Formats: sequence, C-alpha cells, structure tokens
Amino acid sequence: MSDKINVLISEEDVEKRIQEIGAAISKEYEGKCVHLICVLKGGVFFACELAKRITVPVTMDFMSVSSYGDDTKSSGVVKIVKDLDQPLEGKDVLIVEDIIDSGRTLSYLIEILKKRNPASLKLCTLLDKPERRVKEVHVDYTCFNIPDEFVVGYGLDYAQRYRNLPFIGVVEPGAGED
Ligand code: 5GP
Ligand code: MG
Ligand code: MG
Repeated sequence: MSDKINVLISEEDVEKRIQEIGAAISKEYEGKCVHLICVLKGGVFFACELAKRITVPVTMDFMSVSSYGDDTKSSGVVKIVKDLDQPLEGKDVLIVEDIIDSGRTLSYLIEILKKRNPASLKLCTLLDKPERRVKEVHVDYTCFNIPDEFVVGYGLDYAQRYRNLPFIGVVEPGAGED
C-alpha cells in the first residue's frame, strides 16, 4: 500500500516565495558575496533554487549533521557527519535549512559555526514550525510558517522517500490507492 500525500504548499507558491526571499537576500548582501551553507540532505533542493534567485555573487558549501535522535525527533546533540570543505573566517555566511522544528539542531549548529569567525552568520529556512520550538533560534529569513504536521517534499523525506516532490505535502501513511 502506498502513502497518500496531501498538498500543503503548491510548487508554484514555493517557487514564488523563494524568488521573493532571493530578492530580499540580494538586497541585504549588496556589494558582498554570500556564502551559502546547505545542510544536507533536506536543504539541498531549497539551497539550489534559492542560489539561482540571488543576484549578488554566491559561493556554496555543504555539510551533513545527524542529531542523535529518531527521524521525527532530534535530541539537540549534533554530530557533524560531513564537515564543510572551506573555512568560514571573514565570510558572510548564510545557513540554508529545510525546516526548523524544535530548534535544537540549529541552535547547536550555530554555536559550532560561530566559533569559526565568519564576518556574519545568518539563517534562512524554507519551513518553520514555530509552535514546536524548544530552543530559541533567531531566523533571519523564513519562506513559510507551517502548522505542526509532518511534511515531505522539496528536500524533506519520510524514511528517505519523497525528497523529490516539487511541492510541500503532508503524508497519510498507507492511505494511497495501491
Ligand atoms: P529540530 O532540531 O529543529 O527539531 O529538527 C530539525 C530536523 O528535524 C529537520 O532538519 C528535519 O530533518 C527533521 N524534521 C522536523 N520536522 C520535520 C517534518 O515535518 N518533516 C520532515 N521530513 N522532517 C522534519
Ligand atoms: Mg534539516
Ligand atoms: Mg529526515
């Protein structure tokens, strides 16, 4: 039996919003180069789409963290599985995340990255579930605030599936046709 995916945010709305956020970032970083840090794997679709909408010079680096929890709940202790290739010293760094839930992963990650002396460090997320916050995190750019539901698509997975969906959806496990 397959899962049923209900559309929460359409492809068109996601892309329109990324365009707006890209324009806001381009304005804020005028005259600078923005160094995007994509948090794998969930942030990869958003980071690529966002990078295309930024008109100031962009560099990109990737890291992968695991948060010692199960797939739906993080513990707040972050292990770096794949570190960045380049140093952050003196760079205008923008972390690009798929979703902020409890805020545990990001607050830990921000502390780690701050120690590497970037010129500035900001945070951009595709999705935010503000009512789930346990650890306070300052988010500079949010595409969408969403209710407390488990979502997939645009990089976000359910047991590693559905990252490739071009929209944001909510899974109804086992409710599909076949
Ligand atoms: P936090 O540390 O903020 O609780 O956890 C953030 C991480 O939890 C995200 O990067 C993501 O991997 C996972 N996560 C939280 N909510 C969702 C959700 O609704 N859907 C999916 N696919 N992952 C989620
Ligand atoms: Mg993430
Ligand atoms: Mg996941």
